[in-house]
Amino acid sequence: MLRTLSTALAAVSALALAAPAWADTLVDNVDGVTIDEAGKVKRFNGLVFDEDGKITQVLTRSDKRPQVDYRLDGEGRVMIPGMIDAHVHVMDIGFAALTLDLSDTTSLEDALAKIKAFAEANPGRPWIIGRGWNQEKWGLGRFPTAAELDAVVSDRPVWLERADNHANWGNSLAIKTAGVTAKTPDPQGGKIIRDAKGAPAGVFVDYAVQLVGKVVPPPRPEDRDLAFAKAQEVLLGYGVTAVADMGTKMPDWTTYRRAGDAGRLQIRIMSYADSFETLETVAGPEPTVWLYDDKLRMGGIKLYLDGALGSRGASLKAPYHDDPGAKGLPLLTPAQLRNLMSRAAMDNFQTAVHAIGDAANAEVLAAVEELSESYTGDRRWRIEHAQIIDPADIARLGKHGVIASMQPLHQTSDRLMAEARLGPDRLDGAYPWRSVISVGGRLAFGSDAPVEPADPFAGMAAAISRTDAKGEPFGGWFPQETVTREQALAGYTSGAAFAGFAEGRFGRLLPGERADFLLVDRDPLFASPEALRETKVLQVWIGGVKVRGD
Ligand SMILES: [Zn+2]
Repeated sequence: MLRTLSTALAAVSALALAAPAWADTLVDNVDGVTIDEAGKVKRFNGLVFDEDGKITQVLTRSDKRPQVDYRLDGEGRVMIPGMIDAHVHVMDIGFAALTLDLSDTTSLEDALAKIKAFAEANPGRPWIIGRGWNQEKWGLGRFPTAAELDAVVSDRPVWLERADNHANWGNSLAIKTAGVTAKTPDPQGGKIIRDAKGAPAGVFVDYAVQLVGKVVPPPRPEDRDLAFAKAQEVLLGYGVTAVADMGTKMPDWTTYRRAGDAGRLQIRIMSYADSFETLETVAGPEPTVWLYDDKLRMGGIKLYLDGALGSRGASLKAPYHDDPGAKGLPLLTPAQLRNLMSRAAMDNFQTAVHAIGDAANAEVLAAVEELSESYTGDRRWRIEHAQIIDPADIARLGKHGVIASMQPLHQTSDRLMAEARLGPDRLDGAYPWRSVISVGGRLAFGSDAPVEPADPFAGMAAAISRTDAKGEPFGGWFPQETVTREQALAGYTSGAAFAGFAEGRFGRLLPGERADFLLVDRDPLFASPEALRETKVLQVWIGGVKVRGD
C-alpha cells in the first residue's frame, strides 16, 4: 500500500497524542541526511523503523525495499535528524512564553494598554507577572508609578521586571501585600523609589526587589505543567526533539515525570541537576536510567564558575578593557571547584561547568587535567559556553575528551559587547568554534534558550557565517572561526547527543537509534545562511511517532 505521507498522517493525527508507533514502517522517497558513526555525512532515501520506534534500516536508492506494514511516500522532501539543543532551560522557556512581555512597548501608554489586555485575557491568574519594560525606551524621563498601574489593574497584584533585571515595578496591591510602607528602610544594595511623602512609588531597584519578590507565590503544579507544555510546543516548533536541561530543579524534574507518566512527554531531556541536593534526591548514588523509552535521564550536575561578560561577571585573566579595575569574579575557589567536580565524578555523574571568561575556562581545564588522573574512563567533562578561551589554552580542550557546549547565537548577539569588554587585542579566542574542532575538542551546539531563541537553523546560519540575521558584519566576525555546514549539523545532532551520553539512542538516523527526524523544506547542507534561517519544519517525528506537522 503506497500512500502519501500527508494522507496517511491525516488519519493518524486524529488519534490521541500518545498514539503508539506503527509496526514496521518504511518512509520512502526522501532526501535523507545524517551524520554517521565516523562523523561524516551520510545520504539516504528510505528509512525503516519498527514498532518500538527504533530504526532498523537506512536505505539508498539501489537497496531492495523490505516487506513492511506501512509504507509512506516522503515525496522527495528533505529528512534530517531531530535537532538537539545542548543547552537550554526548559521550564524557563515555557514560563517566558506564558509571561507578559513588555519588551516591544514604545511608550508608557502602550505598556499600560498591553498590561490591561493581558490581565483581562488571564482572569484566573492570582498575580500578573511580566517583564521587559524600559522607561528610557518610552522617553518617559522618570520611573513609572504604582498609581499608573492601579489605573489598569487594581484587583490583583502586578509585578513587572525591568528589561535589565535590575528593577521591578509593582502596583499598590503588590506593595501592600508585601507589607512595604513609607517606614520600610532601603535594604543594603537596594533602593525603594519614593514619592514626595516617602511612600513607595512603585519601582524597586536591585536588592529592594526582594522586598516584594519574596511574596510572589511560586508557580503551582498546574502552572508548571502548562509551562512545560508550552516549552515543548516552542521547541518542537523549531524542530528540536531533544535537549540538555541545564540546572534542573526538583519541581522541574517532577514536572517532567508527571508528563512522562501521563504520556505527555514528547521531547527527550538530558537533565543536569541544579544542585547536589536535587541530584541525590532524584538520582541517588548514580545517574538515573533512561526513562520512558529514552525520553528522560538525569546524568549529571551543572556548576557555575563565573558570571556573564555583559555584566562583567565573567572571570578574565587580564582586566576588562572598558573597566580596568575589574577582572570579574570566580564564583568558586580552585579547591571548591575540584571538590564539587570530584564529588560528582565519584558517583559517575557528569559535570557541566559554566565558564565564560578566559580565566574561568583555564581553571576548568586545569581541574579536568588534575581530576582525570583519579577519574579515568569516559567522563566527557563539559564546559558550558566556553566563550572566551585564551589561545594558549585552546589545545588543552583536545585532551581528556573535554566537550565545549557552545551557543552560536551568543556570538552574533554579543559581538559588539565582547569588543567593548575585551578590547581589540583579545578577541582571537572569542567563540572559537573552529579552533575547538581543530585541536580535537568536541563541540555541542545549543541556544541557552530562553536567553536566545531555541532555533537551530538560525544557530547553524551563525555557525557557518559568523553573521547575524541582517548579514552583519559583512564577511563575518572573525570568520576564521566559522565551521562547515556538516560540522554545524553535527553540533546540533550527533555532537549534542554525544555530549549527553546519548549516542546510539538518538541524534543520528542509523539502525538501532530512535526514529527522531524532521521533514524540512530545504537541505541545510546546501542552503546559504539567509536561506537556512528561513528553513520551514514541515513534520516532526519522535520515536517513530509524528508529533507535529501536516
Ligand atoms: Zn544557561
